[in-house]
Amino acid sequence: MKIDILTIFPDFFRGPLDFGIVRRAREAGLAEIAVHDLRAFAHDRHRTVDDRPFGGGEGMVLKPEPIFECIETLNVVPREQRAGTKQTVILLSAQGKCFDQTEASEIAQLDHVVLICGRYEGVDERVGEFLADRELSIGDYVLSGGELGAAVIVDTTTRLIPGAVGNEASTRQESFTARTESLPTDGPDSTCSSGGLLDYPHYTRPAEFRGMSVPEALLSGNHDEIRRWRRRTALEKTLRNRPDLVNWVALNEEDKKLLAQITGKEI
Ligand code: SAH
Repeated sequence: MKIDILTIFPDFFRGPLDFGIVRRAREAGLAEIAVHDLRAFAHDRHRTVDDRPFGGGEGMVLKPEPIFECIETLNVVPREQRAGTKQTVILLSAQGKCFDQTEASEIAQLDHVVLICGRYEGVDERVGEFLADRELSIGDYVLSGGELGAAVIVDTTTRLIPGAVGNEASTRQESFTARTESLPTDGPDSTCSSGGLLDYPHYTRPAEFRGMSVPEALLSGNHDEIRRWRRRTALEKTLRNRPDLVNWVALNEEDKKLLAQITGKEI
């Protein structure tokens, strides 16, 4: 996958892209990431990339010309021909649709992803209207720039590229990941896909640490018991921290029984 990031702070990306899975994916040629300095596409002496808002008001707005010009060098098809291709141009924006794991898996299937980072009061609206095909927010809060959002999208999508994570099954068993056709419903060997729930709790050695012990079920060696314990604790944690997610999950009979045990109510 080729990823192009447009920003007025290219140095921001020294670091976030240089560790762990993202670094290895770059080194293996699975993700080819280029950071473009928007100031290189400004033509005046001061390399101006922003201007005052029409209609008055606070702050500055990123100008459209450097962004359009930069994208014109990237071999991206025009927006009206982009649907159905493996390219996307994303504008990071607090007003965007909320980025989630489903969107991440969709983006991970593409060949070319362009990320536009806003700054100041935002980006001239013509960029969102005529250049980007999606506007994405990474959460309901206002960042000072799109760079952190772009790094979040690069990280979450890169680790979903086949081959980026050593054990591919592990990315399919994590929080939020909808159960896929290719996985057996109960998962292989005592692990189970989250099916859209939060992940189950993980423990490693030592089994006993400062009086805190690992749950018995995990030490039992009984795969069915382990699977049921993981499913129950995933349901418990989801109910506690993200009850909204439970409505989206396809619950099987066993899940319903576990939920009834947890809540003390019939589901
Ligand atoms: N005036 C805007 C905020 C601008 S913040 C508003 O009220 O909506 C400056 C830039 O930070 C934005 O252009 C966007 O690129 C980025 N940004 C801010 N919050 C974001 C979020 N939640 N998700 C993604 N990008 C965000």
